[in-house]
Amino acid sequence: MPALEPSLEIVRVPALRDNYIWLLHDRISQETIVVDPAEGEPALDAARARGWTITQIWNTHWHPDHVGGNQAIRDATGARVTAPAAEAAKIGHIDRSVGEGDQVSTGTLKADVWEVPAHTAGHIAYHLPDVGAIFVGDTLFAMGCGRLFEGSPAQMYAAMRRFEALPDATNVYCAHEYTLSNARYAAHAEPENSAVAERLKAVEAARAADQATVPTTIGAERATNPFLRADSVAELARRRAEKDSF
Ligand code: ZN
Ligand code: FE
Repeated sequence: MPALEPSLEIVRVPALRDNYIWLLHDRISQETIVVDPAEGEPALDAARARGWTITQIWNTHWHPDHVGGNQAIRDATGARVTAPAAEAAKIGHIDRSVGEGDQVSTGTLKADVWEVPAHTAGHIAYHLPDVGAIFVGDTLFAMGCGRLFEGSPAQMYAAMRRFEALPDATNVYCAHEYTLSNARYAAHAEPENSAVAERLKAVEAARAADQATVPTTIGAERATNPFLRADSVAELARRRAEKDSF
């Protein structure tokens, strides 16, 4: 993946079955952040291979496939953990609990914390407005959205309105490679949408070649994501329930 700007490099690290761990390296401060380490070793290996030391861990929610590597990375590097205050008890060791409006940074790289409850009750996203990037965990996926384990369709609808308000060029870093399954459902939900049909073909080709389809962009999601495009809470609820058993 190309660097988004000269001072920042973002690396996608596959983990477990279909998770993506994200490494952000800030060349100015020399800090390296890991977002949602599903497990420790792949993230540590990816950092070491580049001569980086992980200094911060940012978690989006408490699920084990997003925090499972916290301990191993802390033990190996002393990295500080930032995580949602509302899920602190479930996550364990946290150095900084954050919520809506908080800012996390390396000094040069700044992220705003958004509370986007729906997949879990305390789920947060990290938005880097200067870079045009957002780390959304399991809330927004390429052509999909997270399951509503601890929240309501109304909460997910509200989260979609916030994502939709970002510039089209914003890069969206989600935590799973779910795009093929999502694309097939999108083609079912919006059979007349030619952008969905085209993207389904592209995603099928990418996955057949074992290529990742993440990150995505807000613009691509605006055109093809049946959950971002749902025009009411009721429609989002109906589509989410339908996708759950699709
Ligand atoms: Zn999750
Ligand atoms: Fe997950």
